[in-house]
Amino acid sequence: MSASVSQYVLKVCSRCDLACDHCYVYEHADQSWRAKPRFIAWATAARAAKRIREHAESHRLDTVHVVLHGGEPLLLGHDGLREILSSLRSSIDPVTQLDLRIHTNGVLLDEKLCALFADYGVQVGVSLDGDRPANDRHRRFSDGRSSYAQVRRALSLLRKTEYRHLYAGILCTVDVRNDPIAVYEALLVEAPPRLDLLLPHATWDQPPDRPPGTLRPYADWLGKLHSRWVADGRPVPIRYFDSLLAAWQGRPSGSEAVGLDPVDLLVIETDGAWEQADSLKTAYENAPATGFNIFAHSVDEAAAHPGVASRQDGIAALCSTCRECHVVRACGGGLYAHRYRSDNGFDNPSVYCEDLKVLIPQVVSRPRNVPMTSLPESDPAASHSLPEGAFELLSAGPGNPAAMASLAESYWSVTRALVAQVASGLDGEGGDLGRAAVEGWTLLSALDAERPEAVREVLTYPYVQAWAMQCLSPGKSADLDLDYAHLAGLAASAAVRAGIETELTLPVRDGSIYLPSVGALAVGTGTGRTSAVRISPSGLSTRDGSLAWQSVRHVTAGDLSITVEDIDPFRDCNAWAPSGRLSSATWKDWRLGLAAAVRQLTAELPAYASVICTGLRSIVPMRPGVVGQRQSGTAQQAFGALALVLPDDVETLSGLLIHEMQHVKLTALCDLFDLFDREDRRRFPVPWRADPRPVEAVLHGTYAHLALADLWRSRSARTPHGEARRLFLMYRSWVDKGIDALLNVGTLTPHGERFVHGMRSAVEAWGS
Ligand code: SF4
Ligand code: SF4
Repeated sequence: MSASVSQYVLKVCSRCDLACDHCYVYEHADQSWRAKPRFIAWATAARAAKRIREHAESHRLDTVHVVLHGGEPLLLGHDGLREILSSLRSSIDPVTQLDLRIHTNGVLLDEKLCALFADYGVQVGVSLDGDRPANDRHRRFSDGRSSYAQVRRALSLLRKTEYRHLYAGILCTVDVRNDPIAVYEALLVEAPPRLDLLLPHATWDQPPDRPPGTLRPYADWLGKLHSRWVADGRPVPIRYFDSLLAAWQGRPSGSEAVGLDPVDLLVIETDGAWEQADSLKTAYENAPATGFNIFAHSVDEAAAHPGVASRQDGIAALCSTCRECHVVRACGGGLYAHRYRSDNGFDNPSVYCEDLKVLIPQVVSRPRNVPMTSLPESDPAASHSLPEGAFELLSAGPGNPAAMASLAESYWSVTRALVAQVASGLDGEGGDLGRAAVEGWTLLSALDAERPEAVREVLTYPYVQAWAMQCLSPGKSADLDLDYAHLAGLAASAAVRAGIETELTLPVRDGSIYLPSVGALAVGTGTGRTSAVRISPSGLSTRDGSLAWQSVRHVTAGDLSITVEDIDPFRDCNAWAPSGRLSSATWKDWRLGLAAAVRQLTAELPAYASVICTGLRSIVPMRPGVVGQRQSGTAQQAFGALALVLPDDVETLSGLLIHEMQHVKLTALCDLFDLFDREDRRRFPVPWRADPRPVEAVLHGTYAHLALADLWRSRSARTPHGEARRLFLMYRSWVDKGIDALLNVGTLTPHGERFVHGMRSAVEAWGS
């Protein structure tokens, strides 16, 4: 069976009201338009709809895309278009999702047509070549008049609130004699939801215009526009660049102009002829023809035409020069038509080859500017906001889930900025590891634009900030190239979460590759410093097929869903000694213990439990018996994480959880607000330790013991005269003494005083 086809260009009119001198329909080699009916007949359109429907049904296609095209399709008029749209909708809608579009020069677009397109759900794309001088260079009426004003009026119609949802974007044909920045700025003024850039169609017989004295003018022109677009923060998707990136990353390019995707497109002419892509009109007379038509031949028959079938073979169908090219994955040999030479057909590189070889590396591996775009730095104003009353709720002990979520939000901003800062240090040096880092960052940035929730899920994993800090702190990293290449691991994790297929080179660390928050793959120590991995929705695989996979383990209990992290290479946070991979028996103890502790806390202190369930993402098992190590801890650079040695009993474990989560919250709060004078180096006696402590430690200790006092207060309510009450009174006295010390030392800021008075109010509310 032939390949399925999901994209159709339906020519509804073979003439145009403009006479653009760069038009490949009328001005290039194929002049077959002269013999075509001016307009498609209704019966032809209905038959086309039937063919598309049959094919969608037999191939069980989820979606088909139909673009009404010309010439100029609006010449068909309102009623003619309505008949065709109605026919397409009534025929195809019942069997599959129909994505209907029209591509126009815009000259005739009016309110009535916009209303028609709104009725039939038709997206409208418009051609515009940039500012007035650029557009007037080619896009004129036959008498030489400019079409610029009419096209801009059409675009202003599409920007109206009632039609904005129909606005598909702008297609701009490149002319290197235009100023790329002026073109870019003029296109942005039209607020398109998407832009596409089209290289003027050309072949080796009819090469593109190259002004005297220029070597690779198309690389220069597109490179300048790309640089400006990146520096601006990629304010609008530009399909040509996005497609190159996607193809480079092993994803479908979504464009016949680049990449190695099989061809999935047929054209239906106004006489019902099945044809190949219109761009072939530039090659020779009748180049797009297949000899098939919709009356006698099905889509399957047309798709079996050798010209279509030969373009299903990916890299194997390319010439030997392209097959060996280092950018072939993105380029794909360029647009098929651009390879044509009359003496050997299409067995050539693109006539734009020299430009593509220069442009593509810029587009796919230019990380320095990407942070400004895909991972913007945090907005300090936004990060300093807490919901109304959240500060008071936090100062009283537990806070609430909304307050916890907003602390997490502020950390997210910080982590994005840190990751972007790491990436800004990439220079492509460092051999395979350097390339892995660049490739990873490129993918991460692209995913951030397309699947931001997947990127966020990975970058908010607590040990990501610990990793970034290690990269950015001089002397902390023992192997900076290896650490930077962890960007590829982050990208791989985001790709897994996004469910996309791609291939990535990942750093090998101690014989394994790591996907933070997802798992690790043992590839052995003899494989070099990197390993290529194929990522697909069904899992991971390496080139040699080896797959010793360890998943990150999860505990889910009630509203709690956290990882027990025993594999992430940055889980020590430079703060504690982590255990290695837990044995099955030890893991079972952790799983059951944590579930029991959360259940117990939910019964005893539901307010604290709900905040833990909101803000805790991960726990690192600490190696027991390490001299000088406490039994639990948190790290400033790992928001949402804590580490502990699993105690023998649930009561102690639940106490450790609420104790450490107090540190997590207060650390975040101290990042948002100045609570005390950080220049104050004095130390103060505290009842819970023998050695005097700095003010920050007094504050942290008091806040942690506030939660423990509350816990034992709750427990003592059930056993009033036992050990629980003794512990409640002890912790409460520690809190009282801590508060007194803090209020007396004169080092608190107004925010700090507010916070400490909040703790005091909570204690006083307990009574005696
Ligand atoms: S508007 Fe399009 S179809 Fe019409 S002449 Fe110009 S390029 Fe050709
Ligand atoms: S850059 Fe040139 S050689 Fe490389 S794939 Fe593209 S057309 Fe072929």
